[in-house]
Order: sequence, then C-alpha cells, then structure tokens
Amino acid sequence: MSKPKTEADLIKYICEKRKITEDEFKKMTHELQKINPDAKIIGLGNGRNGAKNFKVDCGKCDKTHDFMMETILDGNTRCKTNNTKRKVKTTYTIDMVTEIAKKRDILALNDTYKNVRENMSWQCLICSNKWGATWNNIHNHGSGCPKCVSYYNEEKTRLMLEILCGFKLPKDSSVKFLCFDTRCIELDGYNVKEKVAFEYNGPV
Ligand SMILES: [Zn+2]
Ligand SMILES: [Zn+2]
Repeated sequence: MSKPKTEADLIKYICEKRKITEDEFKKMTHELQKINPDAKIIGLGNGRNGAKNFKVDCGKCDKTHDFMMETILDGNTRCKTNNTKRKVKTTYTIDMVTEIAKKRDILALNDTYKNVRENMSWQCLICSNKWGATWNNIHNHGSGCPKCVSYYNEEKTRLMLEILCGFKLPKDSSVKFLCFDTRCIELDGYNVKEKVAFEYNGPV
C-alpha cells in the first residue's frame, strides 16, 4: 500500500497494518478523546517486540505517544509529559525587586540590583528596622525583618508558656531585669505573684 494521502487512507492503512477493523479504530479514537479531546491516532507506534501499538498525537504536549490498543481502551492515555514550562531564570531589575519586596512590607534601600547573591540593604516598613540580606534570602527563602521575626517568636513563646503555666507572663512588668552577681538578664515576661519569668533568645 502506498503512502496514505487522505485521513481515510491513513485510517485504512493503520487498520490494515495493525489488523483491526475501522470500528475498532473509531472506538479507540473515542476512548482517547474521552481522556483528552485533542488526542488523535496519527500512525503506527514503534511496534518494538511486535507490539501492536499506535502513534497518538497528544494535543496536550508537542510529543507523540505510543499506546497499545488495550491501553487506549482502558483509558490509560493521560499525557505524562511534564508540560510545566521549564523554570526560566528571571533577570531581576531593582524596580522588580523593589516591587516584590514592597508586597511583603520590605523596602529595598539599594539603587541598583546586581545579582541574587549580592548583600543588599532593606528596611522593614512595619518596625523601620534596617538589615542586610541577599535577594536570594529575601525572595527565594522568604526571610524577612529579623526584628519582627524575633518579636513574633517571642510572642509565640509567651503564649505557649502561659498555656503551660496556667498564668500570664506579661512584658510590661515593673521588673525588667534579673541580676545574678554581675550578670543581668532582660525579662521578656514576668509574673510577680508566681515569681516566674522568661527571657526569649537571651544570652547564654
Ligand atoms: Zn502528551
Ligand atoms: Zn520589622
């Protein structure tokens, strides 16, 4: 048989080669399109080891897939090609950096942007604290204002300790420091009545 010129010829050719009826071909197409409406049998599969397979234009990806008749009829023809676009390395500009950081209440203090590894200056729009960090840390690792993080963790610690102790450990206590010999420890929470204090992240 010469090379098929029309779609009808192609179907005939495929059916002949794979020894199936045109009804079976139609049934396969129907099953394929149940999974993916754009899928189409466009030829013969590689047929390695005598496999009676079919070449399917996926319609979802730019590849063709070889499927056995049973696979098609069983509906196991979901496209397995990873279609998620390859991560394109973004080239940031200082404007982009400024814009993205602002959404997280961080002000970029630099006028220029070199690369993700460059140490840059930032200011917290919540507490005005300034600190240095790379864009990689800020953007890819989600790091933020160290002062606000510390405050947040201190409050978390207070809450947990209060739950465990069953009493309050307020910060605005009259006792600010606890001194032994020459060392003084700042107290982040103190319960006067219970004589219990805590210090978050203090010197060891
Ligand atoms: Zn595909
Ligand atoms: Zn802050």
